[in-house]
Order: sequence, then structure tokens, then C-alpha cells
Amino acid sequence: QVEKRPEAVAVIFEGKQLTYSQLNKKANQLAHYLSTQGVGPETLVGICVERSLEMIVGILGILKAGSAYLPIDPGYPKERIAFMMEDAHPTVILIHEPTRGIVPDGLKIIDLVSEDNMIVQFSEENPAGSTHTQNLAYVIYTSGSTGKPKGSSLAHQGVVNRLVWMQQQYQLNEKDRVLQKTPFSFDVSVWEFFWPLITGARLVVLSPGAHKDSARITELIEQEQISTLHFVPSMLSVFLETAESLLCPSLRQVFCSGEALPANLQKQFFEKIPTARLHNLYGPTEASVDVTYWACIPNSNDTTVPIGRPIANTRIYLLDAHLNPVPVGVAGELYIGGVGLARGYLNQADLTADRFVPDTFDTTGGRLYRTGDLARYRADGNIEYIGRTDYQVKIRGFRIELGEIETILAQHREIHEAVVVAREDSSGNKRLVAYVVGNEASLSSDELKIYLKAHLPDYMVPAAFVFLDCLPLSTNGKLDRKALPEPDTATELVSQYVAPRNSIEEALAKLWAEVLGLEQVGIHDDFFELGGHSLLVTQIISRIHTKFHIKLPLRTIFEYVTIATLADAVETAQWQEMNHTQKNITEDGQYEDIAI
Ligand code: AMP
Repeated sequence: QVEKRPEAVAVIFEGKQLTYSQLNKKANQLAHYLSTQGVGPETLVGICVERSLEMIVGILGILKAGSAYLPIDPGYPKERIAFMMEDAHPTVILIHEPTRGIVPDGLKIIDLVSEDNMIVQFSEENPAGSTHTQNLAYVIYTSGSTGKPKGSSLAHQGVVNRLVWMQQQYQLNEKDRVLQKTPFSFDVSVWEFFWPLITGARLVVLSPGAHKDSARITELIEQEQISTLHFVPSMLSVFLETAESLLCPSLRQVFCSGEALPANLQKQFFEKIPTARLHNLYGPTEASVDVTYWACIPNSNDTTVPIGRPIANTRIYLLDAHLNPVPVGVAGELYIGGVGLARGYLNQADLTADRFVPDTFDTTGGRLYRTGDLARYRADGNIEYIGRTDYQVKIRGFRIELGEIETILAQHREIHEAVVVAREDSSGNKRLVAYVVGNEASLSSDELKIYLKAHLPDYMVPAAFVFLDCLPLSTNGKLDRKALPEPDTATELVSQYVAPRNSIEEALAKLWAEVLGLEQVGIHDDFFELGGHSLLVTQIISRIHTKFHIKLPLRTIFEYVTIATLADAVETAQWQEMNHTQKNITEDGQYEDIAI
């Protein structure tokens, strides 16, 4: 693409852009510099940056140097980052201004901003390239049931296969603009980065943090004329609720993956954005992104959305406990074979041997990855996802091993036993609830949240904690998960309940109660303590817009976490709206606010 259209825009971020030629030169310079630092095939380079142009240059530079990239989410707790560094031993770590001071001391660091003057001294020419298809391309860490995250190691062959398949199947062209919004510590980002760049399309990088803000996403879709993007279904649901479909005529195709796509969400999608196609892809981090695909059908009467059939050079088996294929319609565990499989988990031979098993259907000695997913064949040969065989859950698209949270909780000195479950409340919101047996007098939910946040990413910290004298056991002495009680938010709330004092507080309390699925909310209750999370924040902002005709930034809810404080912010915004601005019509017929 660099040779074909060197002056075409390759990547754009917050108004700054790089052409294919500029991007290639910058990535080459970085690659040449990295090569002088002992980086090459089968080495790992960590990259700890926010979404930015440096992220794209950094990843390409690492790959051009022949090395594999290890994304490090700057939002992860220090302890988790330190564990990843100890486990993966990256040769060097790329950082930039916003992420200075995040990676532990003592590691070799290259600052892409402050060292740019030196990096640009290196050659702009393409490096010779000694990478083989079997060489490592990236390592992505995912939750581990034993209490530590595990690094899934993927080689170039699978990634290339996945990208070439995607292009054959969905055909991007030079006019397409693809939104990069998935955090790079999740493998969906792999196709978001590379698919547009290998096809001459434009990669549009969303601002850091904005992937949770559907208003911002809608704005960018319109502004940059985005044609292609990805949503985990829970975020698609929020997006559809808040997005005005008229704002998205440029959307051509939307990809869903990461969790089950409900049939009613598929219906809503086609009602709101009838001009775009919707695709349901399936795959774990242990394969090169996705392994099955399905094109959603408008007006479908099916009660489930299938995950479809295998992608190119991929085999899927649904097997029983004796590794025999199950008949059509019968649930079996989903096994994956083919070129997309990960090598295994970095430095974890036992775990790798447990999940990557010999492929008894392949006479050439291949392997299968045992996913832990349950699925069945429909009569037409397409596959339907059913659920999990274990305690891995998905909350808002995040993959979580409940065992990892339980292990960390059990390490707390006041806790004897802990169990964590994902519970759905009456409004269908899934949230984590921790059941804790221990010294109740010296434990509080707040303290446990702080303790867990020091060890785990925010999305793994339970929304509610229930203290029990002992865990419920079934007659055979095993933990009886079904007997774990509902967290008693109602009683907690009643005891602290303070009623709204004016019409704004009343309207906000009603709105929170609806979104959180609660009967009532007091004005001093903390939104996040009540189970609120980033996707619900988007809903609150959108409902405030409808009700009060004011546009609040997403961060308002994070800053004003109670109704009492939020009501003040709403009142101020209403006042500003009435007194400080008036509408003006611009030359191209748009409304703009002008300050008086
Ligand atoms: P991750 O490694 O984060 O990609 O998570 C992989 C897991 O997410 C799979 O093993 C499934 O349990 C779930 N998953 C991914 N895509 C889908 C899908 N389209 N439908 C249902 N579950 C999915």
C-alpha cells in the first residue's frame, strides 16, 4: 500500500494524520533503532501507550524489527503490570508521555516522544526482515483461573490467515475508514490495526477512554465517515440506545464478537441502522482473533444468533467428554484446530498441555484448543453458542476467570473463604458479586474494593460484597452456588435512604433507579456502589439529555457520583444552556452554540 498510494492518509488521530509513506518511514526508523537494542525474531517488546499515533508506529516498528509486541494497558494496576513484566521478560518497553512512570523501574525503556529526535536519525528504508511465518507476532494476557493472568502467544501465520480471510470475506477498499477503538490488550484490536493498513483503507484511532462513550463514538463516525467498526454486544446495545441512526449513514458493516449476540439486539440493530450489515464473529484469545463467522439476517425470526462456520484454514469440533463428535442438536465442547491456534501460554507448559491437546482427527499430528465453550450444530450446519463449561464469565465483553478474583480475595488476611459469581439483576445487567467468609467486623466493601483494585483491573472488581457466616454447601459437601443469596441492596439502601428534595433530584433518582434496576435510590447513594459501570454511565448521560435537554460530558457521572451532587451539575448546565448560549445557524445549515 505504501508503494501504491504513498500520499494517501493511513492513520488519523485527534486531527493529526500520517500518510502511508510517513507511517512506513516512522515505523522503519523505530525498527532500525530497536534492532540496535537487541530486538529481533523471538524477542518480546512491551508497549505501554494510550491510543495515539505512537501506538500504531510502535506496533508496526516492533513487527518490522522482527519482534513480537506485548500490549500493556496503562490502566492496569502496577502489581499486574509488574507480574506481566516478570513473566514475559520483554527486551525493551515502548512508552510515551502519558504513560511515564507506569512500568516498574529497572526495565529498559524507550520513550517514543522524548527520544523521537534520536529515532528519526535511523534509516527510513524498509528493514531486511528475517521473520518467519512461525515466529511470534504478539502476546496478549488474559485472566487466569489460578490467580495469575496468562499470556497467549500467537505467531504470524495465524494473524496473516485471519486478515487475508477477512479481506476475502468482507472486502475493504481505499474508501473505507475503520475505527480503532478496542483496547490493544484485547485481540479484536489486531484486525482493527492491520486490516485497514493492508488494504489501503484509513485507520481512525479513537481518543483514549472514548471507547466507553457512545456519544463520542457517534460523533466520530459522522465526522470521519467511518464505514467499519466493532462492538462487543453489550456496548452495541448502549450505542443503539443512545445513537441517532441518522448520524450513521456512512456505516457499512459492524462486527460483533466477544460475547453472545442476543437476537433482540440484532433486531434493534437492523431497525436503527438498516443500511449496514451486522456480523457475529467468535473466537478466544488463544486463536488469531476469530475462528467462526456468521452474517446476521435482517427480519430473522430465530431466537438465537448463530456463531456460524469456521473461517479459512480452521477446523471446529463439537466433542463429548470422550472426545467423540456429538450429533446435530446436541451440546458439545467446542474445540478449535488449524493455523490460527496460539503456540500456547507463555512460560506455562502445564497449562498449555492441559488446554492444547493432540488432535485425534488429524493424522499429521496437529493440536486442538479446548475452549470450555458449549455449542451445538443446527440442522443447517451452523454452530450455536450455548454457554460455558466452567467459571469463566464475560462482563461487558471482558473475559474474567472468577477463580482469579477468588484467589486474590482469599489472600486477604481477614478472609477465610471467598466465592465470586456473575449475577444478572432484574434489568438484565450482569455484575460481579463476591461472597466472603471472614472477620466481618474488620472488613468493609469499600476496603475490599480498594484492596482488589491494587491487584486487578477495574472490570474484575465486584460491584457488591456479601458477608456470610459460612458458604452454603450441597448434601455432598460441595459449594452450592445456587444457594448463594441475592445481595441485599434493598435493605442496605433503606437504612441509608435519603429522599429527593426537589424536582431535579426526583427526576434523577427515577432515572438512576430505572437504569440500575433498583426500586429506589437515595440522594447520597454512590452510583458505582449501586452497581453502576461505564456502559450505564452512557445510558444515564443519554437519558439526562432527553429529560433535561442538556449535553453533559461522560466524566460528569464519574465526578458527581451521588444524586445530590449530580443535581447541582444538572442545574448549572441548564442555567448555562438558558443564559449563556444561543443557537446560531452556520453556512452549511448546522446549529452551533455561541457564547453571549
Ligand atoms: P476472549 O478471549 O476475550 O476473546 O474471550 C473468548 C470467549 O468469549 C469465548 O471462549 C466465548 O466464551 C466468548 N465469545 C467470544 N465471541 C463470542 C460470540 N460471538 N458469541 C458467544 N460467545 C463469544
